[in-house]
Amino acid sequence: MSLRVTFLGTAGAIPTTERNPSAVFVAREGDQLLFDAGEGTQRQMMRFGTGFSISHLFVTHLHGDHVLGIPGLLQTMDFNDREDQLVIHTPRGTHRKLESLVYALDNRPSFPVRIDEVGDGDVAYRADEYEVRTFGTDHDARSVGYALVEDERKGRFDRERAEELGVPVGPKFSQLHEGRSVELEDGTIVEPEQVVGEPRPGRSIVYTGDTRPTAATIEVAAEPELLVHDATFAENRADRAAKTAHSTARQAAEIANRANAKRLALIHLSSRYAGDVGDHVTQARAVFENAFVPDDGETLEIDYPDSR
Ligand SMILES: [Zn+2]
Ligand SMILES: [Zn+2]
Repeated sequence: MSLRVTFLGTAGAIPTTERNPSAVFVAREGDQLLFDAGEGTQRQMMRFGTGFSISHLFVTHLHGDHVLGIPGLLQTMDFNDREDQLVIHTPRGTHRKLESLVYALDNRPSFPVRIDEVGDGDVAYRADEYEVRTFGTDHDARSVGYALVEDERKGRFDRERAEELGVPVGPKFSQLHEGRSVELEDGTIVEPEQVVGEPRPGRSIVYTGDTRPTAATIEVAAEPELLVHDATFAENRADRAAKTAHSTARQAAEIANRANAKRLALIHLSSRYAGDVGDHVTQARAVFENAFVPDDGETLEIDYPDSR
């Protein structure tokens, strides 16, 4: 199962010529999900070839730099004769505000749009093999973060061991792998535990949106493959970060460390750091080595934890 993340917008509140406001695109096999949709998100989707077939949009909070792309995006979907439903998840208490964006200028999308409010601890979306969880964040608005968490996968099937035990190659192999015991010709019973390893963890991605550092980010998913964290400021503006309910790159790195994340993407960079992200990277890496500042359009393939 492929799992791919494309950073569509990595700017803070004010875009720069290089960075668009917030939007993160996630494709898991055929499913396409969008997290936040700052102004110009639809053009970023065109530029970076993600397509428009998203089924769910997860909104972290209703500050303009995270949602002003919604009206234009919906209008283009409409022009493209979209028929499939779009579900928009938004923090509890923001339904009406979000609705005013969906129906801006009396626009009526001709495809169904459902708006779901979500709060801390909710499963916003349950799919076949994964879910998108909601966690509370600490920002100066009604805000949440989201974590895509895959289910555990079946343990590895030890084919050699099964053959040693006399299990004939064929349907009994899959019965064992699915957790059922089988009986051999001579009456011996083989239990799945004899030939199937421990269940293997799936992958997870955590996206905070705007927030001060918070423990909820650590608790929502164990050892995520990728943490995408607010890193609006470098250390020289730590006081400003606290005041405006954002994080510094170093604080994001501390969270990544405590969460045992594999990688940390620092985004939502203030325009004052346009063109020079050196301090962000240095200060974060002093705490957490696998930290980086993605460019708009950068794409990451997320591997299974046991594939490395
Ligand atoms: Zn923001
Ligand atoms: Zn904000």
